[in-house]
Amino acid sequence: MLRLSRYMRLLARAESLGRWPEGRTPPAPAGPVVIWNLTRRCNLTCKHCYALSADMHYPGELSTDEAKATMADLKAAGVPALILSGGEPLLRPDIFELAAHARDLGLGVSLSSNGTLIDAERADRIAAAGFDYVGVSIDGLRETHDKFRRLQGAFDATVAGLRLMTARGLKVGLRYTMTAMNAHDLPALLQLMRDEGATKFYFSHLNYAGRGNIHRAKDAHFQMTRDALDRILDRAWQAARDGLDEDYVTGNNDADGPYFIAWARQHLPQWAPQLEQRLRAWGGNASGLNVANIDNTGDVHPDTMWWHHRLGNVRERRFADIWADTSDPLMAGLKQQPRPVTGRCASCIHLGICGGNTRTRAHQLTGDFWAEDPGCYLTDEEIGLTEPAGERLTVTPFRSSKSTAVEARRAIPIVPA
Ligand code: SF4
Repeated sequence: MLRLSRYMRLLARAESLGRWPEGRTPPAPAGPVVIWNLTRRCNLTCKHCYALSADMHYPGELSTDEAKATMADLKAAGVPALILSGGEPLLRPDIFELAAHARDLGLGVSLSSNGTLIDAERADRIAAAGFDYVGVSIDGLRETHDKFRRLQGAFDATVAGLRLMTARGLKVGLRYTMTAMNAHDLPALLQLMRDEGATKFYFSHLNYAGRGNIHRAKDAHFQMTRDALDRILDRAWQAARDGLDEDYVTGNNDADGPYFIAWARQHLPQWAPQLEQRLRAWGGNASGLNVANIDNTGDVHPDTMWWHHRLGNVRERRFADIWADTSDPLMAGLKQQPRPVTGRCASCIHLGICGGNTRTRAHQLTGDFWAEDPGCYLTDEEIGLTEPAGERLTVTPFRSSKSTAVEARRAIPIVPA
């Protein structure tokens, strides 16, 4: 995840001071931020859902007591914060009890919801629970969003939920995943964010997990992605320069780091070297390092896009032990510096900034954890290749294996694809 606004504020401050602002980066917490899918059940069946969620019972989910015990385990492992997600986490009857328990343990707690179930009573309870932040998924204006979310009325319900939360003073943000099908709505969503009083915009590239993999042929084209990044970068810069309380964040494509530096070279060349230094310290993709995932059954994964790769289960082992275990080849490589990537990523001058990007796309297309990321939208010239790299890994349409097809059918029980 690239917190653009954090760096934009530094750039704005540098512009006003006439020098790069002093100040040290706070030390990293001992453990990763954990995105925790407390339930896989969801009232929607979105086209890009990595969890292949649907409105059905999923057996084996952690009980309230097990979830509380896991929270203590995570706290002991140095985890600073939890992002409670799903499925739709508000479908868990104990969601507020669990959020309160996490807070009592001193963990930061955010909520990631589709927003459609937030009525006045739930909004009151969300506000009372003291979530640091609530992210609401919204992938386009009414028509686009309802198609994406496979539910007519989803957009109106989500916006209504958003309003109820901002009216209660909650810090709320929009979460948008871009594909070729909804790229046209990005400008309107940025406007919606401001109109509705949301203060964060999370721009996610499509990652190839779950239904996001099934629909990977509809991923945005590189030029679409570059246009979107230009828009987000300009917007984040204006907000920082104007001192607005708005945060712009991107995720699931760490080539955004080098692209940001190129933007700075063009717009604020005097500060580009300092920005590059900061982004090298950031290091790009955080899977298996600063971000972790626990699914609804307690399985631990390097991040949310790796549900097809299990590291262990919190019912059986301490989280800290699972997370430190590099006998798993994927975890060993993710923790390696630099990561053992191949193809054009291995020769890229930005590898130290991007970290080799998400490994999920590479793995879904090739079966190789370390193949080049086909989602990198930078040109050969931009990544410093002096000779043509040959054929790039291209995104082929998803072809289901028998087991995936069965699971996909089960997880989309009512609405045809
Ligand atoms: S080529 Fe690979 S390492 Fe370089 S920016 Fe693109 S994804 Fe990152």
